Amino acid sequence: MSERFPDFRLGKVLATSFTGTLSERHGDAVERIPVPQRLVDWLTVSGLAVESCTTAQLERAWELRESIHAAATAAAQQDPLPASAVQVINDYSVQGRAAAILTPDGTRQWRLSSASSVEDALSVIAADAIDIISGERDGKLALCASPTCRAAFFDTSQSRTRRWCEMNTCGNRQKKARFNANKQKGLVAD
Ligand SMILES: [Zn+2]
Repeated sequence: MSERFPDFRLGKVLATSFTGTLSERHGDAVERIPVPQRLVDWLTVSGLAVESCTTAQLERAWELRESIHAAATAAAQQDPLPASAVQVINDYSVQGRAAAILTPDGTRQWRLSSASSVEDALSVIAADAIDIISGERDGKLALCASPTCRAAFFDTSQSRTRRWCEMNTCGNRQKKARFNANKQKGLVAD
């Protein structure tokens, strides 16, 4: 199990966790799935374990990811959805053969048609994106307040006032920046 990614199954939104694998999009962007094995790692911690991934499959994953990013960003800003992004998301959604499985203890698992089927995993992510962009799921798409991030995230807080894609990354960084700024102005004691 990889330690490079947090466990996304605990209340995380699959589609926006996936778009978050390219972070700091408006700063020094960091590609968190630069090679096929890293996508395998990410899918594993996301409950979509595959045994292998080819370079071509990784490229398809990037294509889907960027399309979800474009559509989710437009939705968060209440702009019209880019037609090409919608097309890509739909294509990936229909091509997979993943099945939802109910476990004896009442949790949902995804069963892919084969252990090498990255396409099946991508179809689950595409369907998840459709859920949140269409408003089928309870929550609100918003953009991270960090100017170097601006990631689309899905706010399920009661007040719908979440500002950061992740508290332990963007939220803390912003807090620290504000603290340092105040310190320079002499507003915070050492
Ligand atoms: Zn952020």
